[in-house]
Amino acid sequence: MGKQGIQSTLKKVDTEPEIPDMDKIWDTLYLGEMSGALDEKQILWYNIKTIVTVMEEPIDNRFHCEGVAYHWIKAEDYEEEDLLTHFHEAYDIIDAAVTAKTGVLVHCRAGISRSATIVIAYLMRKLQKPYKEVRALVRSRRDCIEPNDGFVDQLLLFESMAYRLDANNCHFRQYLLQTLMMSPDARLMLYYERMSVAEKLTPDLDYGPQYVCTGCDEGLFNEIHVLKNDGSDMYKNMKVCGRVFIEPQRWMGWTKVTETVIRCQTCGQLVGRVGPTYPVIDCQCGHHMDVDSPLKVEMTANMFKKI
Ligand SMILES: [Zn+2]
Ligand SMILES: [Zn+2]
Repeated sequence: MGKQGIQSTLKKVDTEPEIPDMDKIWDTLYLGEMSGALDEKQILWYNIKTIVTVMEEPIDNRFHCEGVAYHWIKAEDYEEEDLLTHFHEAYDIIDAAVTAKTGVLVHCRAGISRSATIVIAYLMRKLQKPYKEVRALVRSRRDCIEPNDGFVDQLLLFESMAYRLDANNCHFRQYLLQTLMMSPDARLMLYYERMSVAEKLTPDLDYGPQYVCTGCDEGLFNEIHVLKNDGSDMYKNMKVCGRVFIEPQRWMGWTKVTETVIRCQTCGQLVGRVGPTYPVIDCQCGHHMDVDSPLKVEMTANMFKKI
């Protein structure tokens, strides 16, 4: 009885799909469009056991095939979308399938931008090869790929961090602030979440010296949170103003960026200011001009000290 039951659930596909919706990129890794993820015939033919959907919505349960694990990375195809902080989880999922020698399909709607970015990031880290080289490899298997400009920048940043997330890297920190602050109200909590993911993945994370409130000695921020240039040669002889701008801190607790003054949570002393009602908050000195973030918190002089 058992045997009969098992046989009836096994499906066989004998012919290769005529126009496949997925392309084999490397080993058991496939890249393709949404229709492939919905087509049981192709899923069986290519022995796909893992599907990574990189879209606004996951694959509806109704279309799930037996024996296939479905994963979803929520992402839209626009330049301000953050895929970079998802590279590590995508890597683990894809690599588990490749190691098990089972098919893994990464797809978005058209298999051109979002899913191609995830596949390129996987191969960059797996092969320890730079973006250009891996892009050429993926193109040679699927010639329509075209990550959008924002995703290309993320892949290049990933390359500059030696194919991992490095929360010590000031370019990475500013990238996250810039990307997730485009619409501050909705994405500030997401910014805190993703930054903490990156910090957890940085084993040698160094917060640097701490700065505390002069009123009560409560910690306010650390050196790592200070917005500054990357220290490269072009800044060596540049005049720097004395103002201190920092990344927003979790303790500031906003769900909306509407506050204009920041008070110490312990003693209530006014320690900084921020927000859209302070249009002049940006600094025009070369040092701060390059830190191009839509959300900078200016800390008020004499209200904080280094310990
Ligand atoms: Zn205080
Ligand atoms: Zn300045």
